[in-house]
Amino acid sequence: MTELAKLPGIGRKTAQRLTFYLLKQPVETATRLAEAIRTVAAGDGCGECGTLTDEDPCAICRDPRRDATLLCVVEESSDVTAIERAGRFRAAITCWRPLSPLEGVGPEALHLDRLMERWRTGERGCGK
Ligand SMILES: [Zn+2]
Repeated sequence: MTELAKLPGIGRKTAQRLTFYLLKQPVETATRLAEAIRTVAAGDGCGECGTLTDEDPCAICRDPRRDATLLCVVEESSDVTAIERAGRFRAAITCWRPLSPLEGVGPEALHLDRLMERWRTGERGCGK
């Protein structure tokens, strides 16, 4: 319960309520939740678009209605959420780390060639 209460927006009472809920569930429920949290914390995410998610590929990349020739490049997974919340954008979306020489992220780390190939061909799978 202490760890749940450390999450943003979750106070002591909500953490207690979540704990009691989990205690009433089959152990598989808690195991799936723990694995989802581990996946997000490890930064694994979607292998196609780089969005932090516990599914690979993510729901956006699996969506056959997406126009893969239109590619929206965002910096953070939270940006994907904001765009998806608008509900009108049907392009493929990919997360791309910004240049950060101090963190060792130079142009070669961005794999811009794969991003351009994905955009040019409309194919998926450019990666993180
Ligand atoms: Zn994806």
